[in-house]
Amino acid sequence: MVKTIRKAAVIGSGVMGSGIAALLANVGIRTLLLDVVPNELTEAEKKKGLSKDDDEVRNRLAKTSLEQSLKRKPAPFTSKKNIDFITIGNTEDHWNELKTCDWIVEVVVENLQVKKQVLQNIDRVRKKGSIVSSNTSGISVHAMSEECSQDFKEHFLGTHFFNPPRYLKLLEIIPTKETKSAIAQYMQNFGEEVLGKKVVFAKDTPNFIANRIGTYGLLVTVREMNKSQLNVGEVDSLTGPLIGRPKSATFRTLDVVGLDTFAHVAHNVFQHVEGEERELFTIPPFMEAMLEKGFYGSKAGKGFYKKEGKEILQLNTDTLQYEPRQKFPLTDKSKGKKKDMKALLYSSNREDQFLWNIISPVLLYSAHLVSQIADNIIDIDEAMRAGFGWKKGPFELWDELGVEETVAKMKNEEKTVPSWVEEMLESGFTTFYKQTPEALFYFKESEYKVKEREEKRIHLASLEKTNVLQKNSGASLLDMGDDVLCLQFTSPNNAIGLDIIDMIHKGINEAEQNYKGLVIGNQGKNFCVGANLAMMLMEAQDDNYEEIDFVISKFQGAMQHIKYSLVPVVTAPFSMTLGGGAEVCLPSAHIQAASETYMGLVEGGVGLIPGGGGSQNLYQKVLSQSGSGTDLLKVASHVFETIAMAKVSTSAREAGELGFLNPQDKITQNEEFLLYDAKQAVIHLSSDYRAPVQQKIPVVGESGYATLLLGAQSMKYSGYISDHDLKIAKKLAFVIAGGRLPFGTKVDEQYLLDLEREAFLSLIGELKSQERMQHMLLKGKPLRN
Ligand code: NAD
Repeated sequence: MVKTIRKAAVIGSGVMGSGIAALLANVGIRTLLLDVVPNELTEAEKKKGLSKDDDEVRNRLAKTSLEQSLKRKPAPFTSKKNIDFITIGNTEDHWNELKTCDWIVEVVVENLQVKKQVLQNIDRVRKKGSIVSSNTSGISVHAMSEECSQDFKEHFLGTHFFNPPRYLKLLEIIPTKETKSAIAQYMQNFGEEVLGKKVVFAKDTPNFIANRIGTYGLLVTVREMNKSQLNVGEVDSLTGPLIGRPKSATFRTLDVVGLDTFAHVAHNVFQHVEGEERELFTIPPFMEAMLEKGFYGSKAGKGFYKKEGKEILQLNTDTLQYEPRQKFPLTDKSKGKKKDMKALLYSSNREDQFLWNIISPVLLYSAHLVSQIADNIIDIDEAMRAGFGWKKGPFELWDELGVEETVAKMKNEEKTVPSWVEEMLESGFTTFYKQTPEALFYFKESEYKVKEREEKRIHLASLEKTNVLQKNSGASLLDMGDDVLCLQFTSPNNAIGLDIIDMIHKGINEAEQNYKGLVIGNQGKNFCVGANLAMMLMEAQDDNYEEIDFVISKFQGAMQHIKYSLVPVVTAPFSMTLGGGAEVCLPSAHIQAASETYMGLVEGGVGLIPGGGGSQNLYQKVLSQSGSGTDLLKVASHVFETIAMAKVSTSAREAGELGFLNPQDKITQNEEFLLYDAKQAVIHLSSDYRAPVQQKIPVVGESGYATLLLGAQSMKYSGYISDHDLKIAKKLAFVIAGGRLPFGTKVDEQYLLDLEREAFLSLIGELKSQERMQHMLLKGKPLRN
């Protein structure tokens, strides 16, 4: 039987080891982080009079690495407190502790001999049945464990995380022929459910899936750049979002990865493949020259790009000198938008021909390799999406282009199309995938096979085709099955306007009549970044305050409806959940948050305060979390600071620490399962759900107001905040304090909501607030005026 992983060990505390240790700590797994004992004392250690026998010296590598992790950006930890789950040590004094670990992951240097030795040492002490894995980028997993015991081999596999492990979603799992299938399955579940990764199974071939195809694609792009006489900046403007790839496109990606790392990966394939393919993995001479000069990329301060002052310069790959950055002069049609990819098939313009020349080889290469490196095409597509940030993997993109037309063009160009693709077309299958309302099918071995393990992946886009109850310009109500209703935001950027507000009322009414409860969630880029600012600004500029008052009352009313709904309302935030987005979550019965949730009441940035009960609901929540004997002023100060400083959590865990989440709210590691978990939460809560009743709220009143303001005023005198910031802070303090009442007075919710509305209305009438709103709408960032 496979044991549950409760305690893990990470061997090697470098970039990846420390990142993997943080990933484990983030999900509450106790982790031992070991590195070698250093050979020499540092100057500082000598000065301190330490010797090589002192723990401080012996554990130095793991300790320093962990300390650096706390400063690293983006942060590896979802909360600094998670570091407590990690114990550091060294491979000599603490090796025996591996006996207590359920999973040991080797993350030492990429060198077969070193890895072999480390694994044999692990084999000597590990407990039988414990899982061991290697985080190699491309060395043969079988080869490194050859000399280990049978039990070891049965419990050993490759677990290839991508850097940085918290943020990059891909986890390639590489079982060997000897790995027990139960172990591979267990690690797949563990990777998906506990660590929140997109897990794909890769075969034990050089560099596995994503790096094999990704490296090939990058080298083909470089080759075509030279042929087409394009330059670095021009290629990047063509190979980013325009074709559904990340903003960092080709060369900025290489700068981030590091040219040395890239060369190492390419070299690994070069060494292990034969024939034509080998040529393709040869590093071109100008890159060799870059390596010699140390132009490694971001870590060296220069690579394909270099920053000089505020200017970004690009490398001239002929002269290896830097020159002003250039962009490809795109045709008007494609400017800034994703291309119509089908154009690549027939267009003769320079950009389309270049794109065809870099994309078609990747499609063919993937098709040639599929059975060698993966079990199926899905694993390849998913690896490229999760590992390289492509919107579509090669086979999905191929479907978009049209398989028949593409193959015809390839054959015209005398390219070798893999026989299985031709046979697929001959047998009448014209796409690699087929989506039906029930399932996704993919082509494998002469037929469509159903994609399994889909139960937890709810696709609202599919539900929208069949299960819509109601729909308006900003939201829709969908039946999620099992008597759970879903309210989905569909407005541009999911901004909250009257349409969403209206649908919230309708959704709750419908759920109270016919469902167990309501999930408020969506699958956009962000959960919601706030209210419809443009509409508010327009009304304010027209002095239409009655309309604004009406909207705010409606917004507050909808939030109260969520709070007092007779059936549970569960919100499912993820990514940016700001302003109105956070206000929707606060009153819900349960928050099921994705681990990567960035939540905050940031209205100050646009010259306002929360208008949908945000201050009151956060205050009430923090108050209820504080228990008996609460220091009211402390609660009010915390809420005041959180909103006045527009604090945004860097994770769901931190949102909890700020008070946005209750201790009983839950975090979902894998965003793909978020709506499923939210739905389960509704089902779980609904059996004995009792709506809360309104209670009076104790406030800090006039004396508390004065105290709250003191801090803001001193920030003003020290020059940290502007006059207008202070004005906003005063209004906010007044609302949180509950106005001019004696300390400890208990007030009705409506009283606080009225104060909030008045303060909101007075601020939106201020010219400086309107300037802030306008700036945010035009530039996408706050104006400090
Ligand atoms: P790194 O050089 O940053 O760290 C390696 C660490 O291993 C160092 O701290 C070193 O002191 C330690 N070490 C060396 N020999 C050891 C031994 N015998 N016992 C214990 N510790 C030992 O390297 P990294 O970038 O963290 O890479 C580690 C592994 O992860 C490599 O196999 C690499 O290919 C793979 N990987 C790296 C990346 C990446 O982007 N850096 C991505 C995926 C996989």
